[in-house]
Amino acid sequence: MAPAEDTAWICCTCANQYPPAPVPPADCRICTDDRQYVPHDGQRWTSLAELAAEGHRTVWADVEPGIRQLTVEPAVGIGHRGLLVTTPAGAVLWDPPGFLDDAAVDGVRDAGGLLGVARSHPHLCGVQIEWSRRFPGPDGRGAPVWVPRRDAAWVLRPDDAVHLWDDRVEVAPGVTLVRCGGHFAGSAVLHVAAAAGGAGALLVGDTVMVLPGHRRVSFMRSYPMLLPVPERYLDRLLAALDPLPFDAIHGGWSGLSIPSGARQALAVSADLYRAWLTGSAHDPDQDD
Ligand SMILES: [Zn+2]
Repeated sequence: MAPAEDTAWICCTCANQYPPAPVPPADCRICTDDRQYVPHDGQRWTSLAELAAEGHRTVWADVEPGIRQLTVEPAVGIGHRGLLVTTPAGAVLWDPPGFLDDAAVDGVRDAGGLLGVARSHPHLCGVQIEWSRRFPGPDGRGAPVWVPRRDAAWVLRPDDAVHLWDDRVEVAPGVTLVRCGGHFAGSAVLHVAAAAGGAGALLVGDTVMVLPGHRRVSFMRSYPMLLPVPERYLDRLLAALDPLPFDAIHGGWSGLSIPSGARQALAVSADLYRAWLTGSAHDPDQDD
């Protein structure tokens, strides 16, 4: 019997991709962590070929000048959006989804090629190594995949394109990764100095969760399990963001952006979160 062909398996729940193997892993490291979950009917796996055969496709949309989003329809995994930051030197891809096709690759090519891939945290890596390999450098290695050293153990598909960084790295002129912690030790944001009309924008994934209404954000250890981050993690996160000039925040899902006034929204939201977390806020109907 011929050996089974190797497949780079993708978890159906979180859409993160594992190294090529004849059979899928026994379980998904992301989904068995206490921040995520395995569906009640069990672990399922897919692949790029299977997703393409099912009719999934990439859809591009403009977010603001210099920033485009790519989503997958129908959605894969938790349905987050990737964001493409274009610069004169090429594009930086943030939080890639768990699928890519020719339309996705062509969109990056049209933006001048891929400088590298970065992510907010280990849940939103998608098929980052596939992206890297579509855009090899002169040495034949894929485009850089930037991973905070504090999350190195969460690299599910190791590759020589993975570049570890520490607390801050400028990946293109005016485009800087900043580690904040909180949801994960390596939870990060991407600061884009030229965005928001030159006032600056933060691309946050769910390092900071943009909430419906475009005026509030939150900060959680686990979003599906609804576990908050403790106050000391919030303080560190706010301290990491404080020096960055920004007026906009672009979240991890389509439509979840605060296009202006985001610094104030972050401050008000953090005060509210802290008040409820520590019990200084209260509901008069229940305090009798
Ligand atoms: Zn998973």
